[in-house]
Amino acid sequence: MTNIHATPSSDAAYWDAPLETQSRAEWDKLKLSLLQQHLQHAYDHSPYYRASFDQAGVHPGQVRTLEDIRRFPFIDKQVLRERQQALPPFGDLVAVPERDIVYISASSGSTGVPTASPFTAQDFDDWIDYEARQFWSSGLRPEDRYCHSLNFSLFVGGPCVLGAQKLGALSIHAGTLPSERLLAIAKQFQATAIWTTPSYAWYLGETALKEGINPHQDLSIKRIFVAGEPGGSIPETRQRIEALWGASVYDYYGLSDIFGACAGMCEEKNGMHWAEDHILVEVLNPDTGEPVAPGERGELVLTTLKKVARPMIRFRTGDIVSFTAEPCACGRTSIRMLGVHGRLDDMLIIKGVNIFPSDIEAIARKDHDFSGEYKLIVERENHLDRLTVEVERAASYQGSDAIIAARFAGQLKAITGVSVEVRILPPDALPRATHKAKRVEDRRSGVWG
Ligand SMILES: [Zn+2]
Repeated sequence: MTNIHATPSSDAAYWDAPLETQSRAEWDKLKLSLLQQHLQHAYDHSPYYRASFDQAGVHPGQVRTLEDIRRFPFIDKQVLRERQQALPPFGDLVAVPERDIVYISASSGSTGVPTASPFTAQDFDDWIDYEARQFWSSGLRPEDRYCHSLNFSLFVGGPCVLGAQKLGALSIHAGTLPSERLLAIAKQFQATAIWTTPSYAWYLGETALKEGINPHQDLSIKRIFVAGEPGGSIPETRQRIEALWGASVYDYYGLSDIFGACAGMCEEKNGMHWAEDHILVEVLNPDTGEPVAPGERGELVLTTLKKVARPMIRFRTGDIVSFTAEPCACGRTSIRMLGVHGRLDDMLIIKGVNIFPSDIEAIARKDHDFSGEYKLIVERENHLDRLTVEVERAASYQGSDAIIAARFAGQLKAITGVSVEVRILPPDALPRATHKAKRVEDRRSGVWG
């Protein structure tokens, strides 16, 4: 069944009011029914899942509650890669004939071998309808001019522009242009909204100022969507980008193997509402596999509920997140992700304490005696990991480096309990990120074996 969704009038609060405001009990009922059908589809049509469920002694027919998902085996990026290599080009997690696949995105990851994420025509339509709903919740309307400044080459973030177009906004398929050109296009067409990474939103704003363009007066951007890095959910980072642009910043979360955005902020900007009718969320202690309490940090594990081309059952994302099911002031009842605190791969263990780069970013962005740019250097000495934070002072700061270094170290200690060395650098000493920022320099050798 194709999604035929009439565009609401611009003053409507919701894209799909009955769905978005249903009770938690109704959400659970909907999710359970979708889960039962989806697991059965995976078992009937994917050789991988049939073998994997049989081996684990579980069957979709046994699923009576949402908690029953916990009896099913995990998959991760490595499984996707291995099954794709064993049965090219798409692997045996695929559960439809190839003639039904109409689109793939691909992500290369760190190993360099891209894994493909296939969609049927219905999967694609479902995805774009969700993107439209999410954009609507962030205040985008048919009157807007939306500039999509993400990569279009194989990247799952590319087609999200069609969500803005479906919503009725005038959509500019800009892609990743040099910043001078992007600014010129935003100015010429008076774009009112743009999507980029948080690092790039900052870089672009700074570039505008250097070129004599004042984003508040010379541009019309009122909404900035960001994704791809934790920054958009760190209030201090978001507020600094907002101040630079005179615009509102909304964090979105996507995953190359599922949707370009699977969650995003509504106008309350208090966590990211999750696409619960498409994806079942678990937040688990990465060591024990047990669910964590609401608000606590754990690994995000996802199960698709509708995407038939390649079901994803219990996919370990490696992202460390926290969630709440508390009601949101916007009236939407879906659960909200409070933030992506980092990747399991990014987590540093210093003196036995878990530290994420996002903890350090929050301090660097909050204190205006710093430029907001920072870098972490991890070294190993006598079998102990040592962390040094390099942070730039702001051009406007005229005081002593020792004072702000001590203040930074004190704030980090208050949050994490760990003392680290803080080195103050002059303004503009650190390289500016134009896409994803690389902020951790690991000088340990052979630690990960
Ligand atoms: Zn909300």
